[in-house]
Amino acid sequence: MVVGGKKLNIPKSTSICDEESCKKEFILESGSIQRRGVGNGIQQLYFVCPHCNREYPVTKINKSIEALRAKIDYYSDRIAKTKDQNKKTQFLQRLNEAKAEKKRQMEELNGAKSALN
Ligand SMILES: [Zn+2]
Repeated sequence: MVVGGKKLNIPKSTSICDEESCKKEFILESGSIQRRGVGNGIQQLYFVCPHCNREYPVTKINKSIEALRAKIDYYSDRIAKTKDQNKKTQFLQRLNEAKAEKKRQMEELNGAKSALN
């Protein structure tokens, strides 16, 4: 599952399906997340129980959020690689701005509680 050219990082975990007739365990990991367009440039991310195919919505994203995600990856990478302390500080400031903006947009799209950061 690639979002904004990057894989979503979801810690591998075991989930139990909520469906009354299922209640089976399945493994949830980055590759489990699927997406589909729901109009207005918005994509719904979700995963599916492999036993009963019940869908579990994760979060909604759009192009702007994907761009911010790419920006965050970019600045994180720059911070990790640069040795210049002034540049590091500048990158860190931009990283924090991008994170705050992404959080704001995720909340706007998903409501105050968003499953993914
Ligand atoms: Zn199930």
